[in-house]
Amino acid sequence: MHIHSKYSAATSEKMNIRELATYAPLKGINLLGTGDVLHPQWLKELKESLEEFSNTGFYRVRGVSSEVMFVAQTEVGTVHEVDGRARRIHHVILMPSLEVAEQLIDLLKDKGDLEADGRPIFTIHPAELVELVLEVDKWNFIFPAHAWTPWWSIFGSRGGVDSLEECYADKSHEIKALETGLSSDPEMNWRVSALDRLALLSNSDSHSPYPHRLGREANVFKLEEPSYKELIKAITEKNPEKFLMTIEVDPAYGKYHWTGHRKCGVSMPPEEAVKRGGICPVCGKPLTKGVEQRVEELADRPRGFKPQRYIPFKRLLPLSEVIAACLNLRGESKLYSGRVWEMSMKLINRFGDEYSVLLKATLEELVEVVPERIAQA
Ligand SMILES: [Zn+2]
Ligand SMILES: [Zn+2]
Repeated sequence: MHIHSKYSAATSEKMNIRELATYAPLKGINLLGTGDVLHPQWLKELKESLEEFSNTGFYRVRGVSSEVMFVAQTEVGTVHEVDGRARRIHHVILMPSLEVAEQLIDLLKDKGDLEADGRPIFTIHPAELVELVLEVDKWNFIFPAHAWTPWWSIFGSRGGVDSLEECYADKSHEIKALETGLSSDPEMNWRVSALDRLALLSNSDSHSPYPHRLGREANVFKLEEPSYKELIKAITEKNPEKFLMTIEVDPAYGKYHWTGHRKCGVSMPPEEAVKRGGICPVCGKPLTKGVEQRVEELADRPRGFKPQRYIPFKRLLPLSEVIAACLNLRGESKLYSGRVWEMSMKLINRFGDEYSVLLKATLEELVEVVPERIAQA
């Protein structure tokens, strides 16, 4: 429920509806955010290629028998000041229809450049953004994006804040969920009691349609009838019978997990960073505090704490990464290699989709298709 189209910076040219509708079923994804729905050109393409599925607020691809459904979704940035320092924060917004997205465009087009990037930036207070978003439609759903990453996030070390209230002020009560991001998992968020009332969501924030990116994190719902309102209810009620679990990558997989300096090739756990006074041993400048260290700063509970009520999660690595690692293939480009793809597709054809391969298939079933060391992994 948080991806980007080809109109966002640093995204794949292939980030279009046709590719998404092709790859999502291979992964086992039934519902995808449209990404960038406030971008006028992308919205036009969405309206041409999608049609609403029987008044549910979910959309299907016109004239294609793909099962995958889409929900109107965008990510936006706000810039506001707290204590004389600029705070830059990303928010995800879900909407009950493409028409509502159009109305929101009308309201926001004077506040920032909607055409410059799929992810627009507004110099307004986040509370004002919440107010505008809910003014258009009370079913609009807004929550902080990748909550802990150093840049552009609510609790980020560079430009974030320390509490929900410092961001959303008198509109904080309207915030009912938080995206944990690739670099944190639910367990880390459970340590901060102020977040207890929020639903913890996991999304891929994918910039490419390929199965090692799309759906690397996901939310698993069991809705009686698939519809936008049922989805929002399942999230806000945090009902474990409807919101079954989230799928997480290992937080260390996220590039902002540790504290460090990418340029200097430095990365370290929080304790060591504190010992070094937060200074980079290579260049002598302050280190960028990673997600782990920020959680440590805001946590009021010990590591390993489990709340009474929670949505469970499972850790998964994308299938192509598992296979590439087994074949001793390293590096990003190897994920596209023919052997990895061929083996992934063999497994997907046998079990239906990638999540089924990773979550449901037994070892005996897997060895029938691929070499044993891959099945074991
Ligand atoms: Zn973002
Ligand atoms: Zn994003």
